[in-house]
This record gives sequence, C-alpha cells and structure tokens, in this order.
Amino acid sequence: MRTAIISHPHCRKHKMIDDHPECPERLDAIADRLLASGLDIAVQQKQAPKAQREHYLLAHDEALVNHVERTLPLEGLVSLDGDTWLCPDSQKAVERAVGAGLLAVDEILADNLDAAFCSVRPPGHHATRATSAGFCVYNNLAIAVKYAQSKGVKRIAIVDFDVHHGNGTQDIFIDDDSVLFCSLFQYPFYPNTAVENNATLVNSPLPIASDGSDLKALYEQQWLPKLSVFQPELIFISAGFDAHLEDDMASLKFVEDDYAWLTEQLATLSKQLGCKGIISYLEGGYALSALGRSAIAHVKALVDS
Ligand SMILES: [Zn+2]
Repeated sequence: MRTAIISHPHCRKHKMIDDHPECPERLDAIADRLLASGLDIAVQQKQAPKAQREHYLLAHDEALVNHVERTLPLEGLVSLDGDTWLCPDSQKAVERAVGAGLLAVDEILADNLDAAFCSVRPPGHHATRATSAGFCVYNNLAIAVKYAQSKGVKRIAIVDFDVHHGNGTQDIFIDDDSVLFCSLFQYPFYPNTAVENNATLVNSPLPIASDGSDLKALYEQQWLPKLSVFQPELIFISAGFDAHLEDDMASLKFVEDDYAWLTEQLATLSKQLGCKGIISYLEGGYALSALGRSAIAHVKALVDS
C-alpha cells in the first residue's frame, strides 16, 4: 500500500520530568529503526502541519483547551494530571501531533495514500472530551476521526491495541454509532475503566501474560466479525506497542511478529471492504528497542500489504 510516516521535529520538544518513560527518544528509536531496516526507501516521509485551536475543539470541550493553554509554563514544568506534564514547548509538539492525523485524512481522502503512520508525541488515547490524562494532552486520533467525519466519511472503525484501555477514545465516541471502537487491554490495569460493550463498542480485556496466540483468537472471535459487519469506510489504529514482551510498563507478551500479523489482517480487511485507507497513531511503547522494532514491523506490514 502507498504508505507514509508523518512526523515533525517539534514532537521531540515536549519534555516531561527526568526519566519519564514518555520521552523524546521514543521517536528516535522509530526513526533509527526505519533507516536500519531499509524501509525508508519504500515509505513517503511527510512533515506534520500545525493544527489549529478549532481542531482541538472537534473532540474536546473548550474548557479543556482553555485549561491546557493557561497551564503551559513559560519555564520549567507543570503537571496536568499527576503523570502528564507540560513544558514551554509542549504546545509546539501538540499542534504537530494533532496535525499529523489531519494531513493523513486529507491525503487518504484525496487518494494520494492508502495508509499513514503518525509517529508523534504526546500520545492521545487517554484524553477524554474533558480531561488530559495518562501522558496524553489531546486525543490526536479522536480529533482526526472527527475531522474525517467533517469531510463526509460516514462509518469509521478504530482499533486500539495499546496495552492500556483507550478510555479517552471510548468517552468521545460512546454515543456515536457511526464509529466502531475495538480496544484490547491488560485487565485489571490503568486506567481501570469499567468494561462495557454495546453495538459499536467492543472491549477486549486480556489477563496478565497473554501472548500472540491470545491476540489472534481475540481478533478472529471478537473483532473480525464486528468489523466485517460494520463495513467501515476508514480504519484508524491506536498503535501502542507497550504490550510487548520487553516492555516493563505492563505484563503482556506480544512480539513484533504479532503486531505485523494484526496489521496484515487489518490491511487485508481494509481491501476486502473497499476502505479508503488506514490511519495509525503512535500511542504507548516505552522499551525503546522493542518500540522501534515493533513500530517498523507495523509500518512494513502496511507497505507490503
Ligand atoms: Zn499504553
């Protein structure tokens, strides 16, 4: 598939407290692995444009946007929620993290691309309509979904394979039956969302030590039937890689081949259903080597599909 990686140097400028796992080096690990793999010649690399305030408001209450703007420090760091910090340059990162998804939507709807991976930070899937949380300022993916809806896309599926539940994304779309949200997560675990399901909400909790075979069973039994019937026009992925065996943030046992397998399944499904494309957003992933290997396995599966 015609695939782009969308990023921006400003996404490195967002810094949190020393030794925080959500660090700028995460993006370096992905960029370095891209070069080492030789995949860089097969993907387009695009710079994320700046998002505007009106875009944040597509998915968030104005009170949250006001709060973030007022909280941005002139120097030093301030805490938004206890584990999410802002530095003086955080806004520069945030506007590109959101902008990456807007560009991805524009390029796919213009039929210039089939797939895009937004290699950006801060991540987004814990940000609800009203709150920043869990290293996330705004819900980048949710904003891109709302933007795609504003461009006329009727049915959108979101698949979230980060080890943590995408509670922010669930919060934003829970009353929208034109968006199917499928989320796997270690359970019980942060953010300790009550597990609920409805016609367009498929939550798939996994016990500690679940591995690739559990992922395959989950996809085939829980997600594939729902996705096939729902017939999305566009597929979004919250691509967190913190369920990796080497990632100490959690206790699942996925490896890069599992991420490649799931990505291939989604790419095949996208083609079968005649979807316009796949837009994937980096969420978690904190073991730097495993993150780089997994993210590039994910992108390679998009390219090769
Ligand atoms: Zn996570």
